Amino acid sequence: MLKVGFEKPEKCYQCGRCTSGCTVAKVLKDYRPNRMVGFVRHGMGKKAINESLWYCARCLKCVEYCPQKVAPADVVLSLQHQAVSGGAPFPEAYRAMVEKISETGLAFQQMEVTDRDFETWSRGSAGLPPVPVGGRAARIAKIVSMIEKGEL
Ligand code: SF4
Ligand code: SF4
Repeated sequence: MLKVGFEKPEKCYQCGRCTSGCTVAKVLKDYRPNRMVGFVRHGMGKKAINESLWYCARCLKCVEYCPQKVAPADVVLSLQHQAVSGGAPFPEAYRAMVEKISETGLAFQQMEVTDRDFETWSRGSAGLPPVPVGGRAARIAKIVSMIEKGEL
């Protein structure tokens, strides 16, 4: 299994704290980071590979909660890598987000917000400077290329 960060599944003792704090587990009962770590720990990572892997929000709360410094979020990331390396389709939403970042440097469209008095604000009307967009495509393409070559 590719090591992507600080994951140490062998240190997991299945206390479940990662799952109790997990943003996604709160709404999806089948999403259990402790179970994924458990499968990896026992050499059964393939059992953890399914489409729910892609629901991880990368909020890193599981990393904060884990008393053993297992870094379940990195275990999930590594499983995602393993899934794609094994031929699983890369989710379209991810692909669209990466394309958006490479084009503009932003993950999402800039949006107006509504305050509690139901007044709508844009950055301009709130007196904020525009967010610089573009100009990062070359740097991001280089990072993507390094990821594809396993250099990151
Ligand atoms: S919090 Fe850490 S030790 Fe506890 S189950 Fe999750 S990964 Fe394992
Ligand atoms: S990073 Fe992923 S697995 Fe960890 S708490 Fe957030 S959603 Fe859950």
